[in-house]
Amino acid sequence: MIFTVAIDGPAAAGKGTISRAVAERFGFAHLDTGLLYRAVGARVAAGAAPEAAAQALSPDDLGNAELRTLAAGQAASRVAAIPEVRAALVQFQRRFARREGGAVLDGRDIGTVICPEAEVKLYVTASPEVRAHRRWLELGGDADVVLAEVRERDARDMNRADAPLRPAPDAVILDTSDMTIAAAVERAAALVAARLSQSS
Ligand code: C5P
Repeated sequence: MIFTVAIDGPAAAGKGTISRAVAERFGFAHLDTGLLYRAVGARVAAGAAPEAAAQALSPDDLGNAELRTLAAGQAASRVAAIPEVRAALVQFQRRFARREGGAVLDGRDIGTVICPEAEVKLYVTASPEVRAHRRWLELGGDADVVLAEVRERDARDMNRADAPLRPAPDAVILDTSDMTIAAAVERAAALVAARLSQSS
């Protein structure tokens, strides 16, 4: 069975948690595509050229805990605006999306560019203040700086020319500002279950 769940949205909206939970519940593979850009950003920070770094990416690059920091997120969003970097990562993501057995991919452009044919498309969002607060609970630091970083990354991701962050026209919008993550997971799982029952 080929079945893709595309989960897009801004940083710290709850995409990762929802994606992992949906993948586990339905036995689908999961790819956090932000990690690809974070790993390229880390290689570039270490002196590599962006396009070459993206072409040379390997699964071993994705396990580094350093990739979760705010600085790694900023570095990722800078390299993510480079069309050659995005192009080098497309094929791997498309193959993953259409692999046998079902796949959940979370990112910024999964439903719009990587897999417009995805069976389920979700756009998970929340207010910048709520997202910054969640990031702050996770990473600590100065709350005002965290909010400024969230806003800066949103602006860069939404305004870039290549694959800007925006909902696909047929995406279901899930605003998690006033929702527990558990409730958001249930809503996402219900959408997947409904679509799966149509295709069987
Ligand atoms: O999701 P995460 O916060 O890990 O993503 C880091 C950065 O990578 C984002 O701010 C965005 O610029 C970029 N990204 C992207 N397209 C994706 C996933 C992430 O441009 N599909």
